[in-house]
Parts: sequence; structure tokens; C-alpha cells
Amino acid sequence: MHFNAFTVPDIPLVEEGDDLVEIICKNTRLCDRDIVVIASTVVAKAEGRVTPLAAIAPSNRAIAIAERNESDPRFVQAVIDESEEILLESPFLLVKTQSGNICVNAGIDGSNIDSGRIILLPEDPDGSAKNIRKDIFSMTDKSVSVIITDTNGRAFRDGQIGVAIGISGIAPTKDWRGSCDLFDNVLEVANEAIVDEIAAAANLLFGEGSDGMPVVVIRGLDFYAEEEGIGELYFPESEDVIRNALVHG
Ligand code: GDP
Ligand code: MN
Ligand code: MN
Repeated sequence: MHFNAFTVPDIPLVEEGDDLVEIICKNTRLCDRDIVVIASTVVAKAEGRVTPLAAIAPSNRAIAIAERNESDPRFVQAVIDESEEILLESPFLLVKTQSGNICVNAGIDGSNIDSGRIILLPEDPDGSAKNIRKDIFSMTDKSVSVIITDTNGRAFRDGQIGVAIGISGIAPTKDWRGSCDLFDNVLEVANEAIVDEIAAAANLLFGEGSDGMPVVVIRGLDFYAEEEGIGELYFPESEDVIRNALVHG
């Protein structure tokens, strides 16, 4: 078995208002059932989710957290503004974003942008993925899946990986429960988070630095599905053991 993964060449520095779909479709020929994986940073840039730090007035709370964490109070204010809930203030800000992802600094990035500006996450990553998929279909007549990713740390391991934060045209998981293993044992737990695995694979080609490769096409995995949204990948609060330990002690 195999699949292919390749970068889309000649993507410019993305600016607010740029038509990402046009840029992608101009630079690669998509096929039905391709999975188009896009780094959130360029979706955010195209959507104008870029803010100059100088425009942010930090609150007293942001100033206090910034002092403890040795960070910029304006950056801390931006994180607070993008958060639905703060799980941990120090030594770093671990928050639940308004779109539901629990991550450090609300996914706000000071990298791959000129100094003095920060990139917020797309406001509604599932909505962005849905629109991109629809626009790709309009432009090419091809039915693809779309995964928007970010680079996140993990709770129990060092190092960061690509994760999915918005999806369209693919189910978030492949549910193995009820099927059998090699020895006819019925699987009771296995629910494979395929969109995160694909995000991590694509991130191998994105890199984190100056490669300028924010779009990867995965071809040869048969996961196309008329489904929308990453919602079920995020635990409901009652089932989120780690969050509840952090918030309630
Ligand atoms: P994130 O994981 O979504 O926060 O994005 P990263 O900052 O890690 O960048 C992922 C990839 O996209 C790297 O190869 C960057 O060089 C590239 N990248 C970021 N912004 C742009 C852009 O505006 N244009 C192009 N061509 N590449 C970009
Ligand atoms: Mn990021
Ligand atoms: Mn990254």
C-alpha cells in the first residue's frame, strides 16, 4: 500500500484578500478524492487575521501574566481575546480557542510574518475548510477533502506536530470499533484520528520555517466523505479528564 504527498509550488507571500483557491489551482492539477492540506497560517493571512501588536492595549491581567511568563503583554492580550477558556496561565498560556481547539497561545503565531505583527488562527477553521472545498469544486469540478492544520505541542511528549483544526469532505476519525483484529478479537476502543495523522504527514513537507510550502496534496488515501467539521474530535467537557484536572484540580 502507498500514498503520495507533494507540495504545491510557487505560492506567494499571502496577503489579506488573496484567493487561496485560485493560487492553489493555478499551481497544481487536483484530482477527485485528493486531500488538500493547508497550513492555517496562510488561511489566516488570506482572511486578514493579522494584527499589529502596536494596536493592542493590554489589560492589567495581561500585563501580570506577561510579567510572570516573560512575554509581551500585547501578545498575551491577543491570546486572552481569542480564548473561550484559560486552562493554564503559567509558565505558558494553555487555552481553549473559540473554535474549540485546546492549544498554547490560542495558536497565535509571531513566525512567518514580519516583525511587529501576529497571525491569529482563522476565526472558523471548519467554515474556512468548507468554503475552500466548495470553491475548489467550482473552479475544477473536482471533489476533494480539505484539512486546515496548525502546529501544536503535545501534553506528554516533547516536540510539536501538525494537527487538524478545520476539515471538510472527510470524517475526523476512522472508527475501528466493532471490527476484528488478526485474532478475531473485537476492537472496542480504536477510533483512529485520521485527520490529525494526515496533518502530521503534510507538516513533514511544510516544515516550520522558511520553506514557503503551506499547501500539500495527499493522493491515494481513500478517505473522501461528504462530511463537515472537526467537532467530534474535541472532547465534551465532561469527558475531558485532563482539562478537568487542570481547571478543577
Ligand atoms: P502553521 O503551522 O500554520 O502555524 O504555519 P507555519 O508558520 O509553520 O508555516 C508552514 C509553512 O508555510 C512553512 O513552509 C512556511 O514557510 C510556509 N508559509 C507561511 N506563510 C507563508 C506565505 O505567506 N506564503 C508561502 N508561500 N508560504 C508560507
Ligand atoms: Mn501556528
Ligand atoms: Mn507550523
